[in-house]
Amino acid sequence: NGNTVFVNSRSVPELKWLLLVEQDGNKVEGRLLRTLLINILVAVGITALVLFVAHLTVGGYQRRLEEMASKDKLTGALNRQVFDGILDRAMKMASCDKSDLSLAMLDVDHFKRINDTHGHLAGDIILSGVVDVIRCTIRESDVICRWGGEEFLLLFVDCDAEQAEALAEKIRGEIEKHSFPLREGRITVTVSLGVSRFVLGESEKDFVNRVDHALIAAKRAGRN
Ligand code: GH3
Ligand code: MG
Ligand code: MG
Repeated sequence: NGNTVFVNSRSVPELKWLLLVEQDGNKVEGRLLRTLLINILVAVGITALVLFVAHLTVGGYQRRLEEMASKDKLTGALNRQVFDGILDRAMKMASCDKSDLSLAMLDVDHFKRINDTHGHLAGDIILSGVVDVIRCTIRESDVICRWGGEEFLLLFVDCDAEQAEALAEKIRGEIEKHSFPLREGRITVTVSLGVSRFVLGESEKDFVNRVDHALIAAKRAGRN
């Protein structure tokens, strides 16, 4: 009647039997198809799971690589290379919409003495502690860059000279107040800061130079 029937025959000579097994083709095909579908679904599920785990792992590594390439390991502040780009963009934005932009350069006072007295590891603890205090004092939109050994550049967006000076003074005071935990007890440090507001048309180098000179003036005027 136009149906497919599968037949399997086998001879069993010991019993002189010819064994015939007959199966309706439609039923067999349906079962095969179901098994195939289940297999495909399981395979798709496992593939999706593997892809998801791979995505999480690669994404995590990528984030760590990006962080390693853009941040200073000790303090978590941005490195100079990344900061350069951010400062350049901020200066262009400030020129475009005539907004305020200020920069502060911070240097830990007599840091060599701290290293010599308490050791370099203690110096490292103080450096990362200083950045923590700065981070708690400035806004989230402000940027911290490790400019050199114990020198940091802070970029204050939408901040005129007066506001930047007040913020720098606040940072100076917070660090002076803070005591940093070392093995031999808690110690205090001071920092000096120079501040300047971006002047329309000046180059990045001139802007940073002015803030550097302001820091030198602060050091000459007695530090802290
Ligand atoms: P001033 O008040 O004039 O800034 O004096 P200073 O002693 O802070 O300045 P100086 O430039 O003479 O010394 C800076 C010291 O900072 C020397 C260097 O060994 C130390 N330093 C730089 N980077 C690091 C660091 O990552 N960890 C530690 N522990 N010390 C560092
Ligand atoms: Mg110093
Ligand atoms: Mg220095």
